[in-house]
Formats: sequence, structure tokens, C-alpha cells
Amino acid sequence: MRGLQALNGAIRVWLGGGKRSLDGFMRRFRKQEDSAINPTTPTIIPRSEHAITRSNISPSALKVLYRLKDAGFNACLVGGGVRDLLLGREPKDFDVATDAHPEQIRQLFRNCRLIGRRFRLAHVVYGREVIEVATFRGQQTGGEEDDSEQAMTDEGRILRDNIYGTVEEDAWRRDFTVNALYYDIADFSVRDYVGGMADLKAGVLRLIGDPDVRYREDPVRMLRAARFAAKLGFRLDPATAEAIPRLADLLLDISPARIYEEVLKLFMSGEAVASYELLRQYGLFGQLFPETEAALAQEIDGHPQILISRALENTDTRIDEDKPVTPAFLFAALLWPPVQRRWQATAAELGDIPALLEAGAWIVTAQAGHTSLPKRFSMPMREIWSLQPRFEQISGRRPLRLVTHPRFRAAYDFLLLRGAAGEVDQKLCDWWTTFQAESPEARDHMLTASTEKKPKKRRRRRSGGAKRDAGGSADATDS
Ligand code: ATP
Ligand code: MG
Repeated sequence: MRGLQALNGAIRVWLGGGKRSLDGFMRRFRKQEDSAINPTTPTIIPRSEHAITRSNISPSALKVLYRLKDAGFNACLVGGGVRDLLLGREPKDFDVATDAHPEQIRQLFRNCRLIGRRFRLAHVVYGREVIEVATFRGQQTGGEEDDSEQAMTDEGRILRDNIYGTVEEDAWRRDFTVNALYYDIADFSVRDYVGGMADLKAGVLRLIGDPDVRYREDPVRMLRAARFAAKLGFRLDPATAEAIPRLADLLLDISPARIYEEVLKLFMSGEAVASYELLRQYGLFGQLFPETEAALAQEIDGHPQILISRALENTDTRIDEDKPVTPAFLFAALLWPPVQRRWQATAAELGDIPALLEAGAWIVTAQAGHTSLPKRFSMPMREIWSLQPRFEQISGRRPLRLVTHPRFRAAYDFLLLRGAAGEVDQKLCDWWTTFQAESPEARDHMLTASTEKKPKKRRRRRSGGAKRDAGGSADATDS
């Protein structure tokens, strides 16, 4: 019955919209067909048969859930919170879904702000904790007009999704089955409309509905697939995986600011190595960092690959040890292969330091079309690069000045990465490791030794791009 209604609806759209493309029709038809076969009766897992207890839910999230319920609304925990609790992991944050509309949510909570245009929702703020409260979304109808609460491009990308619906409809609008489980505060049951429980048990990440349609609606779901697979150690369902390399270039339509947010989640959540491997495997990495991908594709000696892998391993270790990580260092490593290639290629012509600075400026511009990077991170990133030649100077007073540079530590860590990748002499790395840890007297001693070992040679400037040569000229500029 629902199937027939869907077909009828689709034919009406087809007849009524002569100017619309066949593609658009097929897309809408397939979607309506999908929804026609959706089962609407959920599997309800009662409190006694699942592992979620209120003591594992943040008190702020519980407050939000109870206040909504007491005001007569449906209120559920959904998304990563439910998924992670069922897996026995600690959730990163708690997302709430409700049938209350954003304005109604705002009236219930003083500490609430409404955000988002594409996807309007409420943030309820308790100190540093933010509980995201979203109103149940309804079915996409696929209208192209851009002035409604729902809008889609001709290619099927969702511009706006602010049509509200039931909890069942909301479940089908979510990305992966394991992200569409609802913990209902009314009876503490878990409601499963899309087979999420079975996938959770099997360790499968499965996009809800037709992967082509769902990735076209929002290409960022491809990045989310890689991120969740890495984080949870899940495998991608074959259909969910197969579409990704085919559709990866749709990511070019996404704003660099949104991609940047996703890149941070991919690389700064403790699973950077696994995320990177999946991104490369599915042809996604090249969409995020095309110049790096190109440099990696032409690598002869494996150096750039080792440098990136080592940087990501370090990032994961630091996060595991609760040490801070910064996008400046992460991007310095991820963008270094193309910077290094260009530097090497132009050093003879421009001189060592100018070539390095030029390569840094070039990549910042080239990368801006793909991921944004706030100035407060791109500046230190470029400094990490531009300090590298100064590590070659281990005689005279210069090393003493370098260790007091505010960016010394990051630049030194970066030197070690280059050392591990075989790009600079390991002995030089060792020298700096000792030097920076020594007392002032011992440092003086080391400097005397290295100065004696290397009697000052008068070198000609810019004689064919040798690193040392231009390193000398840079030092002259800096001192
Ligand atoms: P994390 O552990 O990173 O918080 P999460 O699954 O909670 O993972 P969020 O980005 O917090 O991810 O989103 C919360 C929920 O909202 C998701 O679980 C999913 O149900 C839904 N969601 C988020 N982004 C999308 C999207 N692009 N398309 C469809 N559903 C989405
Ligand atoms: Mg979340």
C-alpha cells in the first residue's frame, strides 16, 4: 500500500515538474521506494535487556531529558552516546532528540541557544558541557526550491533539513544504523528502527538507505564512515564501502570550514593512524589534502610516508597520555611532503630559506580551497617549517638563541620526525636532544666542541642551493 502511494507521489512529481531532470526523478523515486519498504515497528529492547544505566549518563543530559519529558515531550538519548554506552565505551558527548520544536526547547531552558541554519538545533549549556538537542526530522520530500525549510541541490545535496517529524522518521534520516538507536527516558528502553542493534553486535558500520543517495545528500558522511570505522574498529558494510571511492570527489562541494572540523575529529580523537589508513584506502585523503596525496604518489624512498605515519602515531600517543595536541603541528606534518618537494625543487633558484618560505606560502594558499586553517594555527605551522634550517647551525651562539625561540619545542619535535623519516642526519637530532636538555655550562661545552670541530668556513652565498649555504644567509637575516 505504502509502495503504491509512493509510486503515485513520484509520478505526480514527475508529471508536475516537466523541467526537472530524469536523474532527479529517479533519485526521488528511489528514495520514496526506500521509505516505502521501511519497517515502522521498532524493536524495543527493555531496560532489563540492555546495558545502559543512568549512572553512566551525564547528569546534565539526564536533566535535559527529564525536563523535556516532564513538559510532556518525547525525549531520547541518541547517536554516539547510546552507541558508545552499549559498546561499553565512554561517550564523547550526549545528543538528545525530541519532538519539542526549537522554540519550545528554548522556552524550557534558560541556558539554551539555538544554532545552525542548515540543521537548526538547540545547545543547552551546563558549564563546559553542551547537550545538543535536536527536533525529530521528517522525510525529505526533495523540493529544489531554496526558500523552504527543506532544500536540496540538483545533485541531491541537502542544503537545509528543518522539517520535523516522528521519531521513526528521524531514525531513517540519520547516517549509520548504529547511530540511530534511541534510549527513551520514559521507560529506559532502547528503540531500534533500522537494525542498529544487530550491526552493533556484528561490528558493522552500515549507512541507512541507498548509499549513493545518502552520500549525495551529505558527502561528509563518507568521512564519518572512515572516522567511525577507525574509532570503533568496525568494518564497513560492502555497499557502504563500495560507493565511497566513486563519490569521493563530491567532498569538493563542501565548505573548507566544515571539512576542517571533520579533519580535526579524524586526526585528533586518538585514532589518527587508523583514520589515515582508511582515508587513503577509500580515496578520501586526496580530496582533503590533494597536494600531499600527489607528493606521496611520487615518493621514491618512502620518507614522506614515514614522516606522516610517525606524526600520527605521536598524536595518538599524546592523546592517550592526555597531553595536548595542536592543529598547527598536525597540519605541519600533513602538509610537509609537498612543501618539502617544492622547497627542494626551487632552492637552487631562490636560495634555501626564501624557497622554504615560498613553499610554505604556496601550500597555505593551495590548501585553503580544501580545508580552512585558522591563522592562529597556520602562523605557528609556518614557523615550525621555517625554523628547520636553523637546526643545521650547531656552532657559535646561534643554538643558544634557537632554544629560547617560543616555537623551539614544536620545531625540535618536527626535526625529530624528519630524522625518523631519514630526511636529516640522526646525529644532528641527537645533538639537539642532548643540547636542549643540558645545563648552561654543558651547553657551552658542546658549543665549544662543535665550533672547534667545524672551523668556521667562509662560504659563498647562494652557490647552487646547498642547504648549509642558504641556512647561513637565513641566520644572518634572523640574527
Ligand atoms: P561522536 O562520538 O563523534 O560524538 P556521534 O555519532 O555522536 O559521534 P555526532 O556528530 O555527535 O556524532 O552526531 C550525533 C548524531 O547525529 C549521529 O550519531 C547521527 O545519528 C546524527 N548525525 C550527525 N551527523 C549526521 C549526518 N551528516 N547525516 C546524518 N546523520 C547525522
Ligand atoms: Mg555525539
